[in-house]
Amino acid sequence: MKLYNTLSRKVEEFVPIKPGKVGMYICGPTVYDYSHIGHSRTYVNSDVLIRVLRWLNFQVKSVMNITDVGHLTSNADEGEDKMEKKARTESKNILEIAKFYTDDFWQMEQQLNIIKPDIVTPATQYIAAMIELVKKLEQKGFTYQTKDGLYFDTSKLKDYGQLARLDIAGLREGWRVEKRAKKNPTDFALWKFSKKDEKRQMEWSSPWGIGFPGWHIECSAMSMKHLGESFDIHTGGVDHIPVHHTNEIAQSEAATGKQFVKYWFHSNFLDINGEKMSKSLGNFIRLQDLVDKGYEPMSLRYLFLTSHYRTKMNFTFKALDGGQEAYKKLKAIVAGWQEDKGRTSLSEEKLNKVTNLVFKFREAVENDLNLPQALAVVWEMAKSNISSRDKLELITDWEQILGLDLLTPVQLIKVPEEVKKLIKNREALRKKEMWAEADAIRKEIEKKGFKVSDTKLDTVRL
Ligand code: AMP
Ligand code: ZN
Repeated sequence: MKLYNTLSRKVEEFVPIKPGKVGMYICGPTVYDYSHIGHSRTYVNSDVLIRVLRWLNFQVKSVMNITDVGHLTSNADEGEDKMEKKARTESKNILEIAKFYTDDFWQMEQQLNIIKPDIVTPATQYIAAMIELVKKLEQKGFTYQTKDGLYFDTSKLKDYGQLARLDIAGLREGWRVEKRAKKNPTDFALWKFSKKDEKRQMEWSSPWGIGFPGWHIECSAMSMKHLGESFDIHTGGVDHIPVHHTNEIAQSEAATGKQFVKYWFHSNFLDINGEKMSKSLGNFIRLQDLVDKGYEPMSLRYLFLTSHYRTKMNFTFKALDGGQEAYKKLKAIVAGWQEDKGRTSLSEEKLNKVTNLVFKFREAVENDLNLPQALAVVWEMAKSNISSRDKLELITDWEQILGLDLLTPVQLIKVPEEVKKLIKNREALRKKEMWAEADAIRKEIEKKGFKVSDTKLDTVRL
């Protein structure tokens, strides 16, 4: 399989460290607020990666963190801890907040058919491992202390910033060391001290004083704890390249002297109106908002699969309507194959077609996860003249990657209340023989992705 590696900026042949096995770490959410569909895109992409690897018979061990402490409102180790801030402004207990938004996150993941990671690591349960890692860095001379914490000295590493191709000299320009507590602009906190005038809900004692871990050290400590000092794949959104992942590499490699991660997999953003969807910009949409409007989560998953993970995607309701329509159509077609299981004799021509489709689908997913291309092969297969039974066999296999819930019987699809209402109105109009009005409602229903059968007015099918 070929995979783009942010580290080399090249599409490379994927060769795991141990043959047949893959260790993968997924940068998880900071659980101080609701997840939005921008997050969903990144997690659907890493889900597809895991599914493809498993489909190719790799044994994957996946680990995801839940950041419930240490992620500050500013990337420059300043500002407040996001969790503490939320707890303070809402006068709540941090554990309650973490639980509430973690549950929200899992619900979103489940609705989108994202396979749960094998191991989930809440940061607050790994403080001892983080302290051990920081001690190692201290012993090796990579740390220094300031008034507010223990810092990593990035000038001690020859190739600091390689992942992001950072212009270190440029960053130094205008940086006045005498005015700052940090020695270098890129240095980052490993351990922050609790402020004397502030009461934190979450703090721990450490050899350096009472406080809490830096966000980056969390991911290094937890990933290495479960996957070893060197592992195969680390995923996250592209925004993590210049700071979070760059610093994970610096401290992990400084501590172990080994390469931390072989392949860096980064998902591009979901934008809205040309801007990154984010909590701070307040332009975000939750999956639940879409469900409330009558969209199916699978329509969003389908929409995500139509765009390559390395390209930016701009979210619009028009695009989602298109995704919903295509998804429902495909699901209805698959339902048709399930009903019609007859297999016409496989002529040589058809046999060749099946072989060709199998080849093309595999080629697409192995080519740096080209899911848009793989979906095109799905439609080519759907429109071909091979038998329904063969089609069903192919889609059953490919569903392991697509994860679109295409095989669940179509009748189980929930009809939104507003559509049910429209059907009722239409029924009433037909009884009064108001055909034109009834027809207008039929069109409205179809716009929402449903079709009414005229022989049986109370049944709805896709
Ligand atoms: P956070 O909870 O902010 O750390 O984000 C969790 C993950 O979602 C990270 O890997 C982010 O890069 C990713 N992410 C956040 N916003 C977006 C977005 N608009 N599009 C795609 N990924 C995003
Ligand atoms: Zn991380």
